[in-house]
Amino acid sequence: MGAMGARILVVEDEPQLRALLRLYLEREGHTVADAGDGQAALAAFDAEGADLVILDLMLPGMQGETVLEALRDAGDVPVLITSAKRSEAERIAGLRAGADDYLAKPFNPHELTARVAAILRRSRGTGAGEPPPILSLDGGRLVLDPASRRYTLTGGDTGRLTPGESALLVALAAHPGAVLARQQLLDAVARRPDEVYERVVDVHVANVRRKVGDDPGNPWLIETVPATGYRLVATVDPGP
Ligand code: CA
Repeated sequence: MGAMGARILVVEDEPQLRALLRLYLEREGHTVADAGDGQAALAAFDAEGADLVILDLMLPGMQGETVLEALRDAGDVPVLITSAKRSEAERIAGLRAGADDYLAKPFNPHELTARVAAILRRSRGTGAGEPPPILSLDGGRLVLDPASRRYTLTGGDTGRLTPGESALLVALAAHPGAVLARQQLLDAVARRPDEVYERVVDVHVANVRRKVGDDPGNPWLIETVPATGYRLVATVDPGP
């Protein structure tokens, strides 16, 4: 990443793995802070913040899931979960709780740095150059700034989408009214296809719906197309 180095908080209770992650991430030009348990992690995040958190779920004392909840309450820092918990249900639960990606242990450090780079690319939008245009839907019912990922609803409610959620909505809005297959949406959120990553699209859609008050049974924003994918039903307002 060179000059694009990020500040990364590594939460990992195995000292050897923690040192290894630090080595690989620093070699990529990142600044690394680390913590061996959840309390130390939240204290470090409180004190210094982070551009990305790599979070082991199985920690002594405070569980990783609790740390993730606290991070989500604090804002929208991207979180990459690493865990030996292997069942699909557990992995999905982590993503549903607001993680941006999930890497099962044991993992190849190169795979980890590649995932980190992908998450940072998404969370930074398109990087240098033009900021992505503001997205306005249904005459301003939902307005999203993809650069900050902050959205505003008609009633004045505001919030932030995660990088994956924002990328998904922007991808749907690029083809209003068209059915996009999960696979196409996966490309948009830069995921690799596998059994879990197919489900990532569903999780992101569910999170967006919950945040902006979209009812899957009677959607104004995103319609589920059974066995196929999703479709934006809101109209896309013309740009300025
Ligand atoms: Ca552990």
